Amino acid sequence: MAPRILAVAEVADGSLTKLSTEVATVARQLAEAAGGEALGLVVDASPDAAAQELATYLPTVIAVTNPAVTSEVVAPHVVAAVAKLIEEGVTHVVLGVTPDGRDVAGSLVGLTGLGLLANADTVTWQDAGPVTHASVLAGKAVTSSTLTGDRGIVTVRPGGVTAEPAASAGTVERRDATAPAVPAAKVLDRVAEAGAEVSLEDAKVVVVGGRGVGGPDGFRIVEELAQALGGVVGATRASVDAGWIPYARQIGQTGRVVKPELYLGLGVSGAMQHRVGMQASKAIVIVNRDPDAPMAEVADLFVVGDLFEVVPALTAEIRARKGG
Ligand SMILES: Cc1cc2nc3c(=O)[nH]c(=O)nc-3n(C[C@H](O)[C@H](O)[C@H](O)COP(=O)(O)OP(=O)(O)OC[C@H]3O[C@@H](n4cnc5c(N)ncnc54)[C@H](O)[C@@H]3O)c2cc1C
Repeated sequence: MAPRILAVAEVADGSLTKLSTEVATVARQLAEAAGGEALGLVVDASPDAAAQELATYLPTVIAVTNPAVTSEVVAPHVVAAVAKLIEEGVTHVVLGVTPDGRDVAGSLVGLTGLGLLANADTVTWQDAGPVTHASVLAGKAVTSSTLTGDRGIVTVRPGGVTAEPAASAGTVERRDATAPAVPAAKVLDRVAEAGAEVSLEDAKVVVVGGRGVGGPDGFRIVEELAQALGGVVGATRASVDAGWIPYARQIGQTGRVVKPELYLGLGVSGAMQHRVGMQASKAIVIVNRDPDAPMAEVADLFVVGDLFEVVPALTAEIRARKGG
């Protein structure tokens, strides 16, 4: 049986997310390598624009209009739609490493018993199945994993592959919503967390404040530097746990995964749990007064100094070079 590889897309503000374009590229490339078929799925209150965009990456896209998805927890309607496609012959499911992607993958494992290869940076097709490659131990090693059966689920981290549209656009097929197998938990209220709207994953420059910034006031100089560079502020768990900055900015194992052109870490020690969320950054610049901080192992430039002296001077110099 030729593999049928499904990319499950996510929609934000009516458009396909960047990670979904990467997930779609992975699914198509796997199908090409396997001599199989790639397809995509969008379940949303208004899926049309995202489905059309997904069809620039995949030959077939299934669009399900379902207003319920915007007010549900753990995406049961998406799970139901994917489970139905598995019943119909989808052999492999590719999802992004996002809160919803993780929820859907976990629910599918429970519902279908399929194996899961989680947190891949890249995926290749070898022999009869996908092989996921994931950077571990703060970049010291790469694991390669395969499924034991001929079907399964793969989750892909942001930035591992470059999204590439297909040579020709595919078609969009509309389908009715599938009822979930489990009762849907409903969202009763939404509270926008400060900072949650900022897309750390898409930022070209990320300036991170660690415990070394010393408090919420210390984040002011982090913000000023980020602003001068046109970047976005991120944080370590230590800063988040201290209540200095919202969780939405946390980078690392239990936060966001970023891969900017430039990562600037200020007062960040470089714990492994933080590094797994930023080690793929193109250039890493650190300001830390401890020359032995573990970040030195991954830094391209390590400035030994007090961030309260170095950072304002750096911001002033950048502003001056930009003409104010
Ligand atoms: C299960 C689990 C999951 C975790 N998930 C995450 C995660 O997702 N993200 C994450 O970040 N962490 C995570 N952690 C926590 C992680 O282990 C570290 O505790 C955390 O990353 C440390 O944050 P930090 O570098 O800000 O603080 P610290 O380790 O305390 O480092 C502060 C650094 O600031 C420097 N410094 C202090 N003052 C100055 C100054 N004036 N100028 C210059 N440098 C200065 C110090 O030399 C030090 O190196 C997790 C931990 C566990 C157990």
